Amino acid sequence: MSIESMPERNPDTKALEPLSVQLDNILVCPDDVTLIGRAEACKGCPGQSLCMNANSKGVAEAEKLEVRMKVIKHKIVIMSGKGGVGKSTVAWQLALKLSQLGNKVGVLDLDLCGPSIPKLFNCEQGTIINTPWGWTPVNAHGIVLMSISYLSSNRDNPVIWRGPRKTNMVIKFLRDTYWGRLDYLIIDTPPGTSDEHLSVIAGLKNANPDGCIIVTTPQDLVIDVIRRQINFCQKLKLPILGIIENMSGFNCPCCGELYPMFPGDKMKQLIEEFKFNLLGQIPLDSKLASCADQGDASECGKEFIQVAEKIQCLVEERK
Ligand code: ADP
Repeated sequence: MSIESMPERNPDTKALEPLSVQLDNILVCPDDVTLIGRAEACKGCPGQSLCMNANSKGVAEAEKLEVRMKVIKHKIVIMSGKGGVGKSTVAWQLALKLSQLGNKVGVLDLDLCGPSIPKLFNCEQGTIINTPWGWTPVNAHGIVLMSISYLSSNRDNPVIWRGPRKTNMVIKFLRDTYWGRLDYLIIDTPPGTSDEHLSVIAGLKNANPDGCIIVTTPQDLVIDVIRRQINFCQKLKLPILGIIENMSGFNCPCCGELYPMFPGDKMKQLIEEFKFNLLGQIPLDSKLASCADQGDASECGKEFIQVAEKIQCLVEERK
C-alpha cells in the first residue's frame, strides 16, 4: 500500500485508547457463565471473542493464555528456595488481606505435590466445573482458588509426575481457569527453582507480571539457598518485589515479648547487598499456626495487613 492510499487515522479517539484504559472501564466479568462474552461488561473487552467462541478451535492457545492473564491486573508469584518457610501461609494471608482491602483476588496453588491452599482456606471440598469457558475456580468467600487437589477424586493420592506433565498442568491452570477480571492473582509455588517455576514464568511472560515475593526465615542456612533463588529470578528477568522475613522471632504467648530465633546476620547482609524491599517481618506465632490448621484466619495475621498495603502501593506505583 502506498502512503497516499493509506486510510486516514480513525478520528474516533476512543478507538485509540490504550488497552489498560479500556480494561479499567470494564469492571468485572459476569458471574453467570451463560452470559460470558454477551454481558454488558464484555463489550470492548479484548477477550470477548474468546469467551463467545469458547469452543472454537480458531483461537490459538497462546492467545487464550495471554488474554486470560492480561485481564488480571496484578500477578504475583510467591517463591522460596526452601520448603517450610511459610510460602503458603504468606499466600493465604496476603490473599485475605488484599481482599479485605477491597480487591478481587484469586490464588493459584502450584504446589502440585504438596498443595495446602484448599485447607488454609477451609475449602477442601470445593468442586471445579468444566464449562465451555474454562474451569470454574472454587469460591472461598469471594476469593477464587485453583489447586491440583480439586482435580483428584481421592485427595490422598500422591501426584507422581515428570516435568512435561507438570509444565502442561501449570499452563492449563493459567490458561484454562476462568479467572475473570481479578485485581490480584497470587501464585503459590513449591520450594526451589524447578518445572513449576519455569512454566509459570514462561506462561506469564507476555502478560506483564508484577514479579515475585521471596519468603524466607532469617536463618543463615536458608539465606544461602535464597541467593540461588535470587539468581534464578534475575536470569529469567522476573522482578523481585521484595522479601518477607517469616518466623523472624518468637512471640511469647505469656509476656508478648519478641525473642530472636536465629542469631546469624546473613539476612541483613542480603537485603543491603541487593537493596531489597523488606516487605514484612512476621514472628513465629502459635496462633497463626493453629488458625492455619483450622483454615480460619479471623483471629490471626494482623501483621499481614501492613504487608498487603505495602505490596498494593508498590505494584500500583510500578504500573
Ligand atoms: P511452605 O509453603 O514454605 O512450605 P508453610 O506456609 O506450609 O510453608 O508453613 C510451614 C509450617 O509452618 C506450617 O505448618 C505453617 O502453619 C507454619 N508457619 C508458617 N509461618 C508461621 C508463623 N509465622 N508462625 C507460626 N507458624 C508458621
